[in-house]
Amino acid sequence: MDLIDLHVHTTASDGTMSPEQVVKLAKQIGLKAIAITDHDTTKGLKEAALAGDKYNIEVIPGCELSVEYPKGQMHIVGLFLPIKPKHLNSELEYLRNKRHSRNKDIIKKLNQAGVNISYEDVLDIVEPGASVGRPHIARVLVKKGVVKDIKEAFSRYIGPDGIAYVPKTKFTPQKAISILKKEGAIVILAHPFSLNLDFDELRQEIKNLKLMGLDGMEVYYSEHNPYQIQGYLKLCNEMDLLVSGGSDFHGTVKKDISLGTGKGNLKIPYILLDTMKKYRQNRGL
Ligand code: AMP
Ligand code: FE
Ligand code: FE
Ligand code: ZN
Repeated sequence: MDLIDLHVHTTASDGTMSPEQVVKLAKQIGLKAIAITDHDTTKGLKEAALAGDKYNIEVIPGCELSVEYPKGQMHIVGLFLPIKPKHLNSELEYLRNKRHSRNKDIIKKLNQAGVNISYEDVLDIVEPGASVGRPHIARVLVKKGVVKDIKEAFSRYIGPDGIAYVPKTKFTPQKAISILKKEGAIVILAHPFSLNLDFDELRQEIKNLKLMGLDGMEVYYSEHNPYQIQGYLKLCNEMDLLVSGGSDFHGTVKKDISLGTGKGNLKIPYILLDTMKKYRQNRGL
C-alpha cells in the first residue's frame, strides 16, 4: 500500500529538520507524498517543492493555524496552497509578529522567575524569518540545563500550567478558514481529539465549521487511538467530510513521533490524497 503523511513541521516553524531534509527522509522511508504544514508560515514551501522534484516525491504545500477555541485546542490545516499565497502571507506575517511580542513576554516572565535567558539566545537557534514558537524556547532551556528535557520545559515553565505561560494571539475559526479558502486550499480540522469533545459534541462543532467552509478532518494522527479513529471515520462518512491523516512530525523536539509512522502504528493510505484531488477537481480548484 502506498503511504503518505499530510501533517509535517520543518525549521520554517518549530520542527528541527529543514524542508529539504524532511522531504529527503520521506523519500528514504518510502512515502509517496507528504504535506508541509508549518505553523503560521509558508516559508518552507518553495524549498520543499524543489526537494520534491529533486527526490521524486509528491509534496503538498500547506500550513497550520491555531484558532480561538475556549474548550480545548483547535488547529486548522490548509492543504494545496499556492507556494506563495500573497493574501494569506500578509495575514500570517501578522501572526508571526504577534509571536515575537509573546515570546518576549515569555522571556520576561522566565527572567522574573530567575531563569537567565535572552530572546537572542532563542533567535540563535531559529532559521532567519521562521515562525518562532515555544518549542524553540524549550530547546534553549534544555541547552542551558535549566530543565532536563522539552517536556519539563513545558510543564514547569511555558505550558499552560507553567509559571511563564503567555497565551498566543489566534484568529477565530471563521477567519482562519476564510483566509485559507481564499487561496484555494482545502481546510482540515487537525487532530480533533484536542478539542476535548465527545463524538456528539464534535458532530455539533463540525456542523458549525462546515458552514464556515471546513472540508475535512484529520482522522489518522499520532495521538489518536483505534477507538477514536473509528469514531472520526464514522463522523466523516456521516457528514461528508474528507478524511486526512498526518503524524505531526517535528523532528527531535518531539522524539516519540516519527515521520509517516507517528508513534509506530500510523499508516495513512495514498487513496486519501486521491480523493482530495478529485474533490478539488469537482469544485474547479
Ligand atoms: P506555540 O505555537 O508557540 O504556542 O507552540 C505550540 C507548539 O509547541 C506545538 O505545536 C507543539 O509543537 C509544541 N508543544 C506543545 N506542548 C508541548 C509539550 N508538552 N511537549 C513538547 N512540545 C509541545
Ligand atoms: Fe508545533
Ligand atoms: Fe497542531
Ligand atoms: Zn502540527
